[in-house]
Amino acid sequence: MNVLAIGCHPDDAKIACAVTLAKCVKRGDKVIVCYVSTGNLGHVIITHNPDDYMPNHTAVSRLVFDASFTATLPNYTDYPHVYSSNDGEPAKLVSIYYMDTLAGVNFNPSEHVDISDVIDLKIQMLECHESQLVWMREHDVIDFADMVKTCSRYRGYQCGAEYAEGFRQCQAYLKGTTKRLLP
Ligand SMILES: [Zn+2]
Repeated sequence: MNVLAIGCHPDDAKIACAVTLAKCVKRGDKVIVCYVSTGNLGHVIITHNPDDYMPNHTAVSRLVFDASFTATLPNYTDYPHVYSSNDGEPAKLVSIYYMDTLAGVNFNPSEHVDISDVIDLKIQMLECHESQLVWMREHDVIDFADMVKTCSRYRGYQCGAEYAEGFRQCQAYLKGTTKRLLP
């Protein structure tokens, strides 16, 4: 399976779904992480929740949703540099998963991924974004790494794991599936 994760900023995927993506790689998926994309390259798309806290995040969520549909329309292949897949054919309909919001605000996951065995790696990855840690400490007066770990623990409580990442499947027409696509 191909998995496309689309975030607005470089740290977004690490905050909300880094370990889930690592588990996708481990099971043999081809994983692509990008930021602000047309969203036409994957069989699963993971992106921001439409109700996230930052306008850039909500704009990306909307763009991904719209692009994932319009990419399936044959007339858009007239503009292959914009919407079509690499072979010039319309893209296939794919499911979209929304990743958690910052601090889990206004987000009720429909699926969880157990990340207990790699929570330390997730925090290490997050700490590579040194400027972001400084920004969150100065702007929001929080310990960002502690917040992400605490939220992962909270999601873990919801599903019987020590730590977890939470996702919500987009329920729009033609986006549903009976399969468990997440690892
Ligand atoms: Zn962001």
